[in-house]
Amino acid sequence: METAGLDSDGREFKNSQEMWREQVGDQQKKTVWYTEGVGYWEGVEASVDGVLGGYAHVSEPDVKDSEVFLNTLLSDLFADRRNGKLVALDCGAGIGRVTRNLLIRYFNEVDLLEPVAHFLDTARENMAPENLPVDNTHKAVNFYCVPLQDFTPDAGRYDVIWIQWCIGHLSDDDFISFFKRAKGGLKPGGLFILKENIAKAGFVLDKEDRSITRSDSYFKELFNRCGLHVYKIKDQKGFPKELFAVKMYALTLDLPRRAPSSRPKRQSNRPGIIR
Ligand code: SAH
Repeated sequence: METAGLDSDGREFKNSQEMWREQVGDQQKKTVWYTEGVGYWEGVEASVDGVLGGYAHVSEPDVKDSEVFLNTLLSDLFADRRNGKLVALDCGAGIGRVTRNLLIRYFNEVDLLEPVAHFLDTARENMAPENLPVDNTHKAVNFYCVPLQDFTPDAGRYDVIWIQWCIGHLSDDDFISFFKRAKGGLKPGGLFILKENIAKAGFVLDKEDRSITRSDSYFKELFNRCGLHVYKIKDQKGFPKELFAVKMYALTLDLPRRAPSSRPKRQSNRPGIIR
């Protein structure tokens, strides 16, 4: 990304390459980046307030807007799958907040990926059948205690791969290789839903939890490099003003489908009728 960025102390970087070179430029730096990223979350309480950085009250508007977005996508893309088994993956799932409040109601099976063991343990408890607001045709199945940069999903398992508030922990290179590998985990016609904080321009590096907040154009450049198409975008509404803006992206492997035109194409060798 060619635009300048900042770190949490207000220091300026000329561009993202300069920042990444400094943060993950060799194997040792990279190890420190990822160890300290997970290390930050290891010190956080396994609660909704913990995973939302003290903003437990945004969970409700978050889930509400996610549900509207998901519903549009399900009726646009999966109308013909309603009677089949729908499967989702919740990435950087934390204590399973997104799965519990949203995914488990729409998907028959949900897998959770979360590198922080005490979060995943809490997620496992929260997802026990007796603690879920659904019947036994909907369940959490696999719990993977690995970070995204080390994960490869089972081939063709998922209708939706949901990635919320965790991709900022990945360097650009790992972001791209994650999505390239994860494409193989989607069923034909499946999609990624990415919900993230958005910087006004360039990027903002958070030195405390080792993550970066990217701008909308930064994300779009990366999607391009992953060979992904932006099918739909929506802004989260109703969050406190002091927080970053949040966007939801629906990403597909194929070009967005267009509704077939109702007008037949005019053939060039036939004279047009002038009325
Ligand atoms: N998506 C959840 C949790 C958000 S908190 C929710 O919306 O409720 C951010 C989560 O990202 C934490 O659970 C943290 O452990 C996880 N995380 C940190 N580094 C990660 C990495 N490299 N890969 C995947 N998840 C990571």
